[in-house]
Amino acid sequence: MRQVYFDYNATTPVDPEVLEAMLPYLKEGYGNPSSVHWAGRVAKAAISEARESVASLFTCSPDELVFCGCGTEALNFAIKGSWFQRPDKRHFITTPVEHNGVAKPHSWLESQGAVVTYLDVDTDGRINLDQLRDSIRPDTNLISIMMANNETGIMFPVEEISEIAKEKGVLFFCDAVQAVGKRPINLKEFPVDFLAFSGHKFYAPKGAAGLFIRNGLRLNSLIHGGGHERGRRAGTENVAGIVGLGKAAELALKKMEKSEGKLRGFQKKIETALEAVEGAKVVGATSERMPNTTNVVFDGVDGELLLTNLDLEGIALSSGSACSSGLSLPPRVLMAMGFPEELARTSLRISYGVPTTEEEVDFFLKTLLEIVSNLKNSPQKEETLDG
Ligand code: PLP
Repeated sequence: MRQVYFDYNATTPVDPEVLEAMLPYLKEGYGNPSSVHWAGRVAKAAISEARESVASLFTCSPDELVFCGCGTEALNFAIKGSWFQRPDKRHFITTPVEHNGVAKPHSWLESQGAVVTYLDVDTDGRINLDQLRDSIRPDTNLISIMMANNETGIMFPVEEISEIAKEKGVLFFCDAVQAVGKRPINLKEFPVDFLAFSGHKFYAPKGAAGLFIRNGLRLNSLIHGGGHERGRRAGTENVAGIVGLGKAAELALKKMEKSEGKLRGFQKKIETALEAVEGAKVVGATSERMPNTTNVVFDGVDGELLLTNLDLEGIALSSGSACSSGLSLPPRVLMAMGFPEELARTSLRISYGVPTTEEEVDFFLKTLLEIVSNLKNSPQKEETLDG
């Protein structure tokens, strides 16, 4: 059976050039970067070079970057690290549509006695900046708001948020995991304090991610041990993974503009086709969104059957965050945006990437539209809903 992949927000394949760059560090370049001998020096130099490449992608200083094991670790580091660093500041601000890697640390903070303000998010995925301004208190420790939502692709006005945070003297952390490598981010101009990224969302391997910590700021480390990452994250570095991350950053810098044009073309094609389907609605259609994501709800269609039928046709995509799919949890993000649960449960997250072809898009659209039409007309639907 043919297999096509429309789940790039869950993870991306490793770019062949990235793999090529990594292989020597899984073979002869096996040294421990903390060792002072020749083998260690080779590995250490490779990490330094990768750090320079990621710093170029962000226009920041290499020593502002701390490599971690995954995006979720970077999120926990920023949030819990802020709590431990400034324990007198017990108030945090975030949104109810963040990834679980931000949502769950905030629930944990609440269990430790912190107070969290969750800003309202409307059905277009927008927050109200006046509400943000009014929520800031003298004991506000951190504002955590994502750059691009993983389920809808909707982008938050993070530059304006960072200006508000600066004006009020509060630190701002941005989960940019879905945007890094796909949208330009210039940390010289964007005055965010902490920013998280993860390699496997932009063609590097899983297990290599990081946190930008603006020079002069401190976060309490979560992992104590050796003096790796200038004492900020202990543990022997994933050298090959970090090399891959560096290569992916270098490639993103070169190819981003061209890729964005191609992805916007696919987005337009997919959404034009979907909008012609009765009962279908693209989530956040009028909001600024990532070029590679379409989230659509189908009024009157059973979301679970839709996903199962797509899977049977060899199409890999997701009904929301990969971390919660498979578990029949209420669709937290769309419900926080005001969608009724029944409609939110019909949501499909279609995400595409640089390797996606026009032919794959055509095959996907044809198959999807056929399945939706069959499900709408199928008596099986009533049986399933009744039974
Ligand atoms: N933040 C966002 C917005 C994400 O989409 C993800 C992964 O889906 C993460 C954080 C977590 O990254 P990782 O999978 O590297 O832990």
